Amino acid sequence: MLKSLQGKTVIVTGGSRGIGRGIARRFGQAGLNVLVVSRHQADADKVAAEIGPHAAGCAADVSTPEGCAAMAEAALARFGGIDILCANAGIFPEAKLTEMTPAQFDHVINANLRSTFLSVSAVLPAMTKAGSGRIVLTSSITGPITGYPGWSHYGASKAGQLGFMRTAAIELAPRKITVNAVLPGNILTEGLEGMGADYIAKMEASIPMKRLGSVEDIANAALFLASEEAAYITGQTITVDGGQILPESLGALEAMGS
Ligand code: NAP
Repeated sequence: MLKSLQGKTVIVTGGSRGIGRGIARRFGQAGLNVLVVSRHQADADKVAAEIGPHAAGCAADVSTPEGCAAMAEAALARFGGIDILCANAGIFPEAKLTEMTPAQFDHVINANLRSTFLSVSAVLPAMTKAGSGRIVLTSSITGPITGYPGWSHYGASKAGQLGFMRTAAIELAPRKITVNAVLPGNILTEGLEGMGADYIAKMEASIPMKRLGSVEDIANAALFLASEEAAYITGQTITVDGGQILPESLGALEAMGS
């Protein structure tokens, strides 16, 4: 049983749907004040309303310094501090290398990697003042560990987050601020549900646990990394993928049997 985080404040970027919504709801259940951030106020407000009166929505574009400053100001104005940042917002448009334009590459790097730097920078003054802090990045298995056609820019952004994390963790250790990352495998989100049963069945077949991950699976790992008990863990990753990266071949999956 982890010590209670009740009354602490978390900012969840990309909290309006998918994994971020799962993280926001889980932290809300644990009694934290939750600032739900997305570019669309109504969507962020909807998730905040699901969580309860200790949550608020905030419209901010985290790929811009202004958006990140507004997000930090909103948390301070509403809740009086920032204890935890879950930097989760991200996009994953597809483009094969032969078609990818420099603008498409920059767009994904800005939305996923630059936003990580900007979000972390924006919460540092409040965490430094508080004398501690927890930063949890949502990276991916795609990029740091695996590859997928159409996602070279995405994979670069997700691997880049880990490079950023390792040096940030060293720099921020004296301030008692930890920086860690969760690496989700294939997670069942609203977007993925829309891809259809066949698509989902194919994905499930490639995962030793034979199911997609849930947003709660990711949220539980994020909650642990945000806990007091994780105070001595920094610059590390937790892969939450049902064993997806383990089989060395299709044969390995077939040899599992049932
Ligand atoms: P999603 O359902 O598409 O949700 C993305 C969230 O990010 C939305 O709340 C979106 O809200 C927000 N967002 C996007 N760009 C933003 C920006 N510039 N500023 C503020 N908010 C922004 O995505 P997801 O599948 O939950 O993925 C969430 C994270 O998990 C991403 O970092 C992704 O790379 C990672 N991940 C997902 C999976 C998976 O299987 N789903 C696997 C591995 C890693 P608005 O559009 O309203 O801004």
